[in-house]
Amino acid sequence: MTEPNQVAGVLAPDGRAVLPDGDRAAPGPQESPWDIEAIRAQFPILSREVHGRPLVYLDNAASSQQPHRVLSRVERYLREQHANVHRGAHQLSAEATEAYEDARRAVAAHVGATNPAEIVFTRGTTEAVNLVASSWGGAFVSPGDEILLTKMEHHSNLVPWQLLAGRTGCVLRFVDVTPEGTLDLEDFDRLLARQPRLVAFTHVSNSLGTINPVREIVARAHAAGALTLVDGAQAAPHLLSDVSRIGCDFYAFSGHKMCGPTGVGALWARRELLEEMPPYQGGGEMISEVRLEGSSWAKPPHKFEAGTPNISGVVGFGEAARFLAELGAEAIESHEAALKRYALERLGDIDGLRLYGPRQERTSVFSFTYGDVHPHDLSTILDQWGIAIRAGHHCNQPLMGHYGISGTARASFYLYNSTDEIDALCDGLALAAEVFGGIS
Ligand code: PMP
Repeated sequence: MTEPNQVAGVLAPDGRAVLPDGDRAAPGPQESPWDIEAIRAQFPILSREVHGRPLVYLDNAASSQQPHRVLSRVERYLREQHANVHRGAHQLSAEATEAYEDARRAVAAHVGATNPAEIVFTRGTTEAVNLVASSWGGAFVSPGDEILLTKMEHHSNLVPWQLLAGRTGCVLRFVDVTPEGTLDLEDFDRLLARQPRLVAFTHVSNSLGTINPVREIVARAHAAGALTLVDGAQAAPHLLSDVSRIGCDFYAFSGHKMCGPTGVGALWARRELLEEMPPYQGGGEMISEVRLEGSSWAKPPHKFEAGTPNISGVVGFGEAARFLAELGAEAIESHEAALKRYALERLGDIDGLRLYGPRQERTSVFSFTYGDVHPHDLSTILDQWGIAIRAGHHCNQPLMGHYGISGTARASFYLYNSTDEIDALCDGLALAAEVFGGIS
């Protein structure tokens, strides 16, 4: 529903995103037909200053910003509709439940799920992976079974499996990463021949930007008899991520990386799997009947949503999914592709800057080192000029080890970033080189 102060991101027939009320800003110096000023105007935080400079927010892989309509939808929910969901016989509870379940429909549509009951709300990708490792892994993995991961996994798709290995005696194996930063598919085939129970891998690398050939990996895994879990944290915000096209069994993603609130995300899973998996946590909401001697469970997805959920977060997540749907996944992808091309060109020209990850089949996440400047020092200097990037291991310590480094600087872009901001980053890097007395 349109909020009073909301500016819907509708698309003109030529694909340009426009303001609906004629209040259109002049097109920015973009390669893509994307009205960047109109988009940016929808994100209040983007007009603030940091250290007296306009904010240049390039830390989107860690968390994205929220548009007016998400903020105002959450506020309206809290001001006018809040009550606990699913168990009240009063008007507010009915409205809260409707808002909550409506969000489930929007989030399901975002990943191409035809059945909203296949969406389980979680705190985020991390909890979604933990849910699968704990519930499915606890029930169906035996000592000696293999789980196949990759060396580019975020810790959130690694540590839950290590915990499972500690509990069950299952064995973890890891697909190698090539020097270019893609998965070594020959190594994958070798490890698949060992017949793992599950292949769990990231759709897009949060450090390298690599877009993995997700359909191919899923098809090969299924042919080898394995289930598949895809970590979609860095894909669902940026790419058309359609679980029915991908063909996977589990898909995990987070709201706060796709213009939604923090503390909310989702696990999509095939209905049959959710039916046969035991509950993840026990408590209210997830039961059918409770007796002192034992209990029976509600049907999925409620079986996996114990306790009072993050209702306002879910409502905001749903609004974010609708916002992205109205902009259109293809339009978002094409704007980011233009940013990516421009960033590759500009960053590629900077002496002493080493960019990690492939040039093709990648998103607009750029990890780099800059001479021997420590990434944290670089990030601190850029922050003085209002430029927010991230520095560190990005929860990818094994991947950093693979490259023999402890961390990188990372600039990551989203639908509201502009080529001007790439210029600002490059200017900032040039100034930083002066501060550091040259780059070697
Ligand atoms: N996987 C990937 C690839 C990520 O980038 C992140 C977030 N950095 C996560 C998982 C974890 O997401 P969250 O913290 O939202 O649970």
